[in-house]
Amino acid sequence: MSDCLFCKIIEKKIPAKIVHEDDQTLAFDDINPQAPVHTLIIPKKHVVAVEDCKDQGLLAHLLVTCTKIAKQKGLTESGYRIVTNTGRDSGQTVFHLHLHVLGGRHMTWPPG
Ligand code: AMP
Ligand code: ZN
Repeated sequence: MSDCLFCKIIEKKIPAKIVHEDDQTLAFDDINPQAPVHTLIIPKKHVVAVEDCKDQGLLAHLLVTCTKIAKQKGLTESGYRIVTNTGRDSGQTVFHLHLHVLGGRHMTWPPG
């Protein structure tokens, strides 16, 4: 998608602090972090949100990648949150599937 921000990050046309890359996924630190650790994990294939992703293997790979990022960032023991916003009510602002990994501080529930 030529007008997609995250596709441009995948293509390295827009800089990002990349912390992990493999054949299917890219992970980079959020530009506006909401916690000491705030990393986004995205598929290299452009899909808008979870329900648009027909590849269940890719969805599983994204989740496993989140756990690897959490380990890399030292969050495994303290805990962390994986979030994916979908659609208007969730507050999704970038319409390329992404999983947020947030950690490094105590978080409240329910989210706002
Ligand atoms: P969401 O609101 O769930 O769609 O999340 C989009 C996230 O992308 C937000 O947390 C933004 O701070 C983040 N974001 C937007 N632009 C960039 C960028 N250029 N590099 C890294 N993160 C970004
Ligand atoms: Zn995209």
